[in-house]
Amino acid sequence: MIDEIPLSRPDITDDELRLVEMVLRSDRLAGGPMMEEFEELVASRAGRRHGVAVSSGTAGLHLAMLALGIGPGDEVVTTPFSFIASSNCILFVGAKPVFVDIDPVTLNMDPERIEAAITPRTKAILAVEVFGNPTHMDRCRAIAAKHELPLIEDACEGLGGAWKGRSIGSFGRVAVFGFYPNKQITTGEGGMIVTDDDTIADVCRSMRNQGRAIPGQGQPQSSTLGMAFRHDRLGYNYRLPEINCALGVAQMRRLGDILEKREIVANEYVQLLLDTSDILLPTVDQHTRMSWFVFVVRLADQYTAEERDRIIQGMHRHDIGAAAYFPCIHLQPFYRERFGYAPGDFPVAESVSHRTLALPFFNRLTLREIDLVSQTLKLMISRENLKRT
Ligand SMILES: *Cc1c(COP(=O)(O)O)cnc(C)c1O
Repeated sequence: MIDEIPLSRPDITDDELRLVEMVLRSDRLAGGPMMEEFEELVASRAGRRHGVAVSSGTAGLHLAMLALGIGPGDEVVTTPFSFIASSNCILFVGAKPVFVDIDPVTLNMDPERIEAAITPRTKAILAVEVFGNPTHMDRCRAIAAKHELPLIEDACEGLGGAWKGRSIGSFGRVAVFGFYPNKQITTGEGGMIVTDDDTIADVCRSMRNQGRAIPGQGQPQSSTLGMAFRHDRLGYNYRLPEINCALGVAQMRRLGDILEKREIVANEYVQLLLDTSDILLPTVDQHTRMSWFVFVVRLADQYTAEERDRIIQGMHRHDIGAAAYFPCIHLQPFYRERFGYAPGDFPVAESVSHRTLALPFFNRLTLREIDLVSQTLKLMISRENLKRT
């Protein structure tokens, strides 16, 4: 019997259990050695000098916006085809997201269209490696440099990947990873800011910790206003507990193995779905080292969003997870209301988002399960075709 196959499932081994237990038996449950080790592991994997662990990817993006001084009246150029957090962080600081339509192959912001969206109010470009695909990140970086704008890299879907030998997380002045349970590695909830910029790292460390001065920064100790309650700036509680960092350390130590397993699953899907003419498979550029986040396929042009949704429902009836990844951000109700966006504003992103669907994807998905998912998908597609003719 094959049980329900979910969209995603975390992969927790004895290594994680051992490290979490070690933390629980220690006296340090927050701000300790696990956090330091986790920060080092992620920063070095991304080829950056600093890592700042935070409570979520969204919190990391929020701090990145603040550290770059983005605020009310500013514009940030970004993609409408992403998880909503990559755009919400722009709203958190009172700035305006200016969307750029996507490339239909990479599904990332189309570099050809970025410059047309830049105005005198533009303060940053926020690029996302959608579904882990870093293709053309060097072009986003070059455009940002040409216009003297910081590039913020929402790397929440791409830990471990690379483009032309350059790691995901190393393209932006600031990059942010996310560790929600469906990501390549998880800390339950969590995120990390990585950067080479000492000031940005210091400011983010302070802001995640209620705006406290960073230890060792030469602030005089005063008997009346000790370091513990000295707050240099408006800060937040965006700290990541030691238990969560222990999960992250254990997962980072076997990241190579995790990414390899995910690649095997992706390759198996490709083999099984290659011959289905109505399915477009994800394309991996020859210069891309893909760190697979999800496995998202796209139905051919003639399919409608309603047909796609019925295919997803059909998968669910067979106890198989499937989901529409992603609905466009500009068409979310509060974005439409606030900024006046309407269908047709970003036609490539909309046409892609009407026809994409994510299939179950996680490290321990078995070959039998992948086979069952693929067969069921083909069956659901044939049913829709029967209805049409
Ligand atoms: C997962 C993700 C985030 C961060 O999500 P959190 O749940 O806050 O950790 C941000 N941007 C993108 C594109 C994501 O996929």
